[in-house]
Amino acid sequence: MFKMLIVVNILFVLLGCNQAHVEMNHSDSLIVIDAGHGGHDSGAIGAGKYEKNLVLQIAHKVAKNFKNMGYKVYLTRDDDRFIKLSGRTKIADRQDAKVFISIHANAIADKNRFAQVEGIETYFLQKTRDARSQRIAEKENAAVLKDTDGLSKHVIIDSVLNGPKIIESNKLAIDVQNNIMKSVKKLYSDVRNGGAKPAPFYVLVGASRPSILVEVGYITNPKERARLFTSEYQEQIAKGIVAGVTRYINNRKQEIGF
Ligand SMILES: [Zn+2]
Repeated sequence: MFKMLIVVNILFVLLGCNQAHVEMNHSDSLIVIDAGHGGHDSGAIGAGKYEKNLVLQIAHKVAKNFKNMGYKVYLTRDDDRFIKLSGRTKIADRQDAKVFISIHANAIADKNRFAQVEGIETYFLQKTRDARSQRIAEKENAAVLKDTDGLSKHVIIDSVLNGPKIIESNKLAIDVQNNIMKSVKKLYSDVRNGGAKPAPFYVLVGASRPSILVEVGYITNPKERARLFTSEYQEQIAKGIVAGVTRYINNRKQEIGF
């Protein structure tokens, strides 16, 4: 399934390259940026540094860069406050966003491996065989499914979890991951590329538009943590995210003949 999606994506990219120049006006595109955690939920902690603070700093830089490109931007949180996970994607749906980007930092529990585990990863929502994730997804979709019978329910759930949104989220994740890597490597050539991966993250379930979760690096890795808390590195991550989303939206506009 994953391989097929990649082939589809490559085809779209190839087709996109042969198309005529596309208007670069992004004023109609609203981007929802979700800084993970906040308030009593500090997220991961590395040497006394909090994920919630790091991702808010990066989210602000991402927002500024999008605005400079003419996009409209909405932040799920603008300061150190807690927002329930289910509320975050509901905000994206209510705001009629083009894409939803959740920003997080990674961590591992094993102290002995802190120095070895590092890198940037981008996740997109993918159907899972895990029963718990299935239940979460079904609960999120309950409102849509209320008035339908059993058979249609399965058809709808299947189309929600396997439909165009998944393919679009996959394409968005690949574009964003590639462009973040390109951007951060201008500062450091040794940043590890963790790739674009499928994942049943709760925060992404229920978002009715292309949705990704960026893990900007490991807060538990001393070298990566030091970089992550500098303004220069945060700026490169932000620029990469904006370049990736822009590439995705431009290709999308070409696909649907805008
Ligand atoms: Zn997180």
